[in-house]
Amino acid sequence: MNIDLSGKIALVTGASRGIGRETAILLAKAGAKVIINFNRSAEKAEEVRKTITDSSGEAELFKADVSQPEEVQKLFDFIKGKYGKLNILVNNAGIIKDNLLLAMELTEWNSVINTNLGGAFLCTRHAAEMMIMNRSGKIISISSIGAIKGGRGQTNYAAAKGGLISFTRACAVEFSGKGIQVNAVLPGMIVTDMSSRVRKRAGDKILEQIPMSRFGEPADVANLIVFLASDNANYITGQAISVDGGLSVS
Ligand code: NAP
Repeated sequence: MNIDLSGKIALVTGASRGIGRETAILLAKAGAKVIINFNRSAEKAEEVRKTITDSSGEAELFKADVSQPEEVQKLFDFIKGKYGKLNILVNNAGIIKDNLLLAMELTEWNSVINTNLGGAFLCTRHAAEMMIMNRSGKIISISSIGAIKGGRGQTNYAAAKGGLISFTRACAVEFSGKGIQVNAVLPGMIVTDMSSRVRKRAGDKILEQIPMSRFGEPADVANLIVFLASDNANYITGQAISVDGGLSVS
């Protein structure tokens, strides 16, 4: 299957590391111009940009904390001013702040909800405004199998990721007549910084639960995102698709 994203403008939030990094690289490889959003990891974001431009791709950096409305506004002002359109939004930025519910501070709850779910709300609202003008667009949000399988110490994360699935379905219906497809991707245990602590602590036990007996690589997830971002996925909307080596069905 040929995936050609030439002429498309794509924004990947949280693209300095992990799944977002790989997604930015693969979108650029398919021909899209990519805006690499990052928050704290400026050097790593620059390395992603260089990786893309060294392979003749096109990419720009934009620092913005997706949980902050004014920063998201600036990010989209930049995109509007420079390109006048946005074809692909990947709501990928995410954090964990695990704690048992009875010990969870309100700040731990709020930061995870505001980044993982609130960030997607803010970015989707801005992106949809631009996409409606073109009567086309793809919005892909990175949820988690943590949304459907309970995880100890992850009430904040599970609520945010479950919310993202519901948000995706509602957006898909709202935008179905406007040429915009909205989907969610649910990674299992993927080899990134985010999962490193739990893989170190309980890696073997988790591997036993994964029917394919291996952790996922960022590219396993990014390949699906790129497909959903392409015209090959024009009839897919409102879906929550797992990429987890079978973990959610075991
Ligand atoms: P990661 O390696 O920890 O990378 C997280 C990315 O999000 C970084 O680029 C980080 O940017 C960015 N980010 C965090 N807070 C941000 C904010 N407020 N504004 C903008 N960017 C922000 O994580 P990952 O594993 O690649 O995770 C990517 C997504 O997949 C997340 O939504 C995560 O919940 C989801 N996911 C991951 C797994 C897994 O096993 N790894 C499983 C299920 C779902 P800076 O470093 O520049 O701040």
